[in-house]
Amino acid sequence: MSERLILVTNDDGIQSEGIDLLATVASRFGRVVVIAPDRNRSAISSALSLHSPIRMNEVGVDRYSSDGTPVDCVNLGFYHKLERKPDWVLSGVNYGWNLGEDVFYSGTVAAAIEGCLLGARAAAFSLTTRGNLENTKPFLATFLEQWEKMPLPPQTIWNVNFPQQVPLGVRLTGQDNRAYHDVVEQRKDPRGKPYYWIGGESAPTYSRQEGCDADAVLDQWISVTPLKLDLSHPEVVTRRDEFKRIFG
Ligand code: MN
Repeated sequence: MSERLILVTNDDGIQSEGIDLLATVASRFGRVVVIAPDRNRSAISSALSLHSPIRMNEVGVDRYSSDGTPVDCVNLGFYHKLERKPDWVLSGVNYGWNLGEDVFYSGTVAAAIEGCLLGARAAAFSLTTRGNLENTKPFLATFLEQWEKMPLPPQTIWNVNFPQQVPLGVRLTGQDNRAYHDVVEQRKDPRGKPYYWIGGESAPTYSRQEGCDADAVLDQWISVTPLKLDLSHPEVVTRRDEFKRIFG
């Protein structure tokens, strides 16, 4: 069997300490190629650059930065830079949790989703901005050593979040709900014209449903959530009679 090929990316950018740590740990398990944005592209979700050129620069051995999005970087890996399809796509370690509905905004999670859609085993890793990256190392190594023993159904990724403090252990979790307290603030530029700034000061409120991601990390556990890319609602899809009565 040929050596395992691992594509590592993120949305915080190639200069992030989190991507270095992930690439270093991953290198124990195969050949790692890093392709990541040349700047912070957090909260860019699955954006794909279809109407502008994308540049890529070699910045080290098996290490490239691109002015594209995280999903662009995954595509550059699969369809250009790598000689074959990677076995694993690993995204992170992101500074900032991706809990509950964060996954819809996250470029970190989106890169793992893209890897999965293109046929690799994929995972996203995130840590609160107040956390210590070093604390993620032992479980990262364990996770990557063991995760092939737990195959997932197709179209599923792992979303891993680390607690702020030294983890007590690991929990298999569901996806929580959270309330955002975002605001749109209007400010004035030096020429007196208005501009807008999105993002509230206060932290989000999590539902903290038992067994879900936020509850786990807030209780100091590592949260490991299987995320299903099929977002259709299985229960609602069966309500065809009711639907027919209403919509014909
Ligand atoms: Mn980020």
